[in-house]
Amino acid sequence: AYPTLFTPLKLGSLEIPNRVIMAPLTRARMPDRIPGEMHATYYGQRAGAGMIICEATNVSPTAVGYVYTPGIWNDQQEAGWKQVVEAVHARGGRIAMQLWHVGRVSNERVQPNGQKPVAPSAIRGEGAQCYVEFEDGTSGREDASTPRALETEEIPELVESYRQAAVRSKRAGFDMVEVHAANAYLLQQFMATGSNQRTDRYGGSLENRARVVLEIVDAVASVYGYDRVGIRMSPFIEIFGLKDDESEAMMYYMAEQLNVRGLAYLHINEPDWAGDDIHLTDDFRRAVRARFRYGALLFCGHYTAEREQDLIERGIGDAAVFGRPFIANPDLPERFRTGAALNEPDPDTFYGGGAEGYIDYPFL
Ligand code: NAD
Repeated sequence: AYPTLFTPLKLGSLEIPNRVIMAPLTRARMPDRIPGEMHATYYGQRAGAGMIICEATNVSPTAVGYVYTPGIWNDQQEAGWKQVVEAVHARGGRIAMQLWHVGRVSNERVQPNGQKPVAPSAIRGEGAQCYVEFEDGTSGREDASTPRALETEEIPELVESYRQAAVRSKRAGFDMVEVHAANAYLLQQFMATGSNQRTDRYGGSLENRARVVLEIVDAVASVYGYDRVGIRMSPFIEIFGLKDDESEAMMYYMAEQLNVRGLAYLHINEPDWAGDDIHLTDDFRRAVRARFRYGALLFCGHYTAEREQDLIERGIGDAAVFGRPFIANPDLPERFRTGAALNEPDPDTFYGGGAEGYIDYPFL
């Protein structure tokens, strides 16, 4: 079934054999923030994906907002990820690293020395919650802390943390890097009008609000080349108190800027995924396509094999990216190809815990 999904696609200089791509999925299963054998097994099981985008991975100790999410800022983390990459490559797959900074969606309890999280401006994410460890060793949700605004002089250091994370990703063997500029985390906080009230060259005009994101894309590309760099964005999303009066204009501006650079792909996370009652229109998708012409255009959120086939055949996008279906179906492409039934994901085991609900979903 769905032959269109089994035609190769170029993501920059990387050719992938099918268009069933695995989305970045936070699973919160690394208490020490280091991937190990179990995580290598999980990703290796999913190597049949056209490409895997690994779970959001923090670029530095201050980039974190939740317990148990991985990092890529030290040698042990790099070695752990190398083990993951090797498991995927050994099974004939391809994998991208996703670089993540949460910005204000953080809490002093998960920050080094209990310091305040950093953000474009000192504005708390209304309703944002973090997952933290308490003094008594238990864990649970707590409201995000009020952040402090990054000083202009600190921005180069921030950009450099992404570049160093890209260097480590490359040494670990990742085929590609995806910059996480979605889901109301740091880079979207810079782009959005509600969370960025800066008066330096990183705030104010639309171009200024986009500046740090493009500096980070350029820094990561200095390591990987633009033909091996992708970006994830989520226009119109309103989670974690994010407000943006110019979301559409920002998306078009970014699409043009990324097109000029020859970025490998643009990955759009659709807002209804987060449960918001906001839906992208085909006119919007086409308007992005018209501006981002050379790289691949990917969409994620509630796609099925049928909807993906329709998207591709109408020329609006090049592929769909699958999250929850990949949690429950390690052999998702094979199931689409043969028209087999899908396993249902169990939300109780999405985050935290161990092997259960992680590496024990059945293959065909
Ligand atoms: P949630 O509010 O239930 O949990 C949010 C986060 O808390 C999880 O990502 C996880 O890190 C942590 N968490 C939750 N339960 C945990 C547990 N038992 N043990 C350890 N950590 C735990 O998440 P949700 O309702 O699935 O998602 C809410 C929003 O968060 C989504 O709409 C999405 O936008 C965003 N989200 C983003 C990312 C990302 O971009 N990296 C990852 C996950 C969720």
